[in-house]
Amino acid sequence: MKVTVIGFWGGYPARNEATSGYLIEEDGFRLLVDCGSSVVSQLQNYINPEAINAVILSHYHHDHVCDIGTLQYARLIKGYLGMELPALPVYGHAEDKNGFSSLTYKGVMKGIEYNPNASLTVGPFTITFLKTQHPAPCYAMRIETEKASVVYTADTSYFDEMVHFSMKADLLICECNLYKGMDGRSAGHMTSTEAGMLATKADVGELLLTHLPHFGNHQDLIHQANETYTGTTQLAKSGYIWTK
Ligand SMILES: [Zn+2]
Ligand SMILES: [Zn+2]
Repeated sequence: MKVTVIGFWGGYPARNEATSGYLIEEDGFRLLVDCGSSVVSQLQNYINPEAINAVILSHYHHDHVCDIGTLQYARLIKGYLGMELPALPVYGHAEDKNGFSSLTYKGVMKGIEYNPNASLTVGPFTITFLKTQHPAPCYAMRIETEKASVVYTADTSYFDEMVHFSMKADLLICECNLYKGMDGRSAGHMTSTEAGMLATKADVGELLLTHLPHFGNHQDLIHQANETYTGTTQLAKSGYIWTK
């Protein structure tokens, strides 16, 4: 399994970068997890947008879905230029009717509702879900193949069920929008300390901190997470690659 960070900012993208977007590949199948602002632009540093086989969305906040419309236009234009592309399957929950209905577009993209209580098979991946604690309905995902398991927290404040859900994952892609000592419960985000605690309790193989804040020194996030978690910890950055 190969994970490439396309974008990692919370809220809005810093210059020349993107908000949430993670390309997960195995056996030539390319799954894009979340499609935030500037993801389609950044994605082209690695693959063409038409090479994506499926997209899955955690929730419908702009920093996770902003470039869905951009991806629709990219496929529409490639079609005008003569490329024959199937409708791209985009998996999302249907608890936000407006968000979900915007996924299906002109035969170039097809929205498919996922059932968060069941496991979903997409290409070589088996995906299970956990509803997070966030102002909008949002789902964390556990994405597994025979080779590896990756848990993506999406947006959430810390809660204990995340520990079981993340248990022994090879990689925990953990949102870390806040620093030690802050309180993320009303905003629905986690601190560095909570990310470290989650990684420790769930005994994950590696910790990747993402959905990073637009303030403070990001290196502090690593040090604060490592006050509890002693495993390999990285800050997400554009083009960061993890493989197993
Ligand atoms: Zn977000
Ligand atoms: Zn959000």
